[in-house]
Amino acid sequence: MPAIVRPDTKTLFQIDPTWFAQNGRDLREEMHGALCAECRARYPSAADAPVVDRIHPRTAEVQRVDALWECLADHCGRLPGYIAPSTLLTVAIFRALLANGNQAMSPEQLHRRIGKSNPAGILKLLLGAEIENGIVPLEN
Ligand SMILES: [Zn+2]
Repeated sequence: MPAIVRPDTKTLFQIDPTWFAQNGRDLREEMHGALCAECRARYPSAADAPVVDRIHPRTAEVQRVDALWECLADHCGRLPGYIAPSTLLTVAIFRALLANGNQAMSPEQLHRRIGKSNPAGILKLLLGAEIENGIVPLEN
């Protein structure tokens, strides 16, 4: 039987898109809500942002690429104010993962990115009774 690993501040967390569907929430709508004004002008609604097939130049593997993820990772997430001092901690964590293209991050990495709370506080929040914004430990 595998040992149960207790999550700590180095445990990686990511957004689970299936959680949104199961909880009657729309991840793409929430991603759209995090866009900056410029990107929102380009994509007035989430439905306006295309999901396209892209062929990886080396592996020839076909990937589904969502323009919303690209916007958040390459543009909006780099703007000052994307995560502001007044941004709620739960929102700041969610936005940090969005801007990271939903590559899993640990509470220590999240703390460095958002500059709020502390790694232990972020871990405690993520392990709270309620799953916040579909953020769950990365399954190995
Ligand atoms: Zn933007």
